[in-house]
Amino acid sequence: TRSTRPQRLLAAVQKNATRGDPRSVVSAIDQFCRQKEWAMNVGDEKGCILDSVVSETNPTTVLELGTYCAYSTVRIASLLPPHSKLITLEFNPDYAKIARQVIAWAGLQDKINLVEGASGDLIPKMKEMFGVNTFDLVFLDHWKDRYLPDTKLLEKCGLLRKGTILLADNVICPGTPDYLEYIRNSPQYESRYFKSHLEYTKVEDGLEKSVFLG
Ligand code: SAM
Ligand code: MG
Repeated sequence: TRSTRPQRLLAAVQKNATRGDPRSVVSAIDQFCRQKEWAMNVGDEKGCILDSVVSETNPTTVLELGTYCAYSTVRIASLLPPHSKLITLEFNPDYAKIARQVIAWAGLQDKINLVEGASGDLIPKMKEMFGVNTFDLVFLDHWKDRYLPDTKLLEKCGLLRKGTILLADNVICPGTPDYLEYIRNSPQYESRYFKSHLEYTKVEDGLEKSVFLG
């Protein structure tokens, strides 16, 4: 049987990245996606914005919605201070299997908790499963029609605190109009757009960074 794109992406990592070196894993994936096959990672250009937000937030608890092959997971985890935890959710078992191997190649398995399942089912379980009180940073990058309902679920479950940062990818392409409308108009958030391009293309896309005001 033919291999899948995530399997080919993993093979490129194992061929071209140094074990235990997260930045070489990120570079190997970007090179694969620019030279061989496009894939839905946040990518190098928006990845730099993601890195700055992670660095300035210096979070100890991070939630990522949508792991895919763990490209952004590795980017985020490599910048986290010691003793911090990153929980990343993925409902596709084939992607989760590849992601675990990418994370292991980067040597970041101790910092990352990859949980298989749907965000709508898992968000209400964060407190009991992981003893998380609130998140410092949430990266939204799963299916675009889930951004708004899952944000409301995070609010309802008390997982946001005054100052929690929501960072949402692909708010222009493919686009998340209902989420943007909500987050930009709610008095509970202070929101700002970071203009960039869809991963590995010249098409406009960007990240929306929103601070929960409580
Ligand atoms: N964040 C990744 C990166 O930048 O490297 C890319 C994530 S990809 C754009 C979106 C992923 O979210 C897919 O792998 C998809 O299977 C997963 N997904 C979509 N909806 C989900 C949900 N409700 N719960 C869990 N995973 C979901
Ligand atoms: Mg994305």
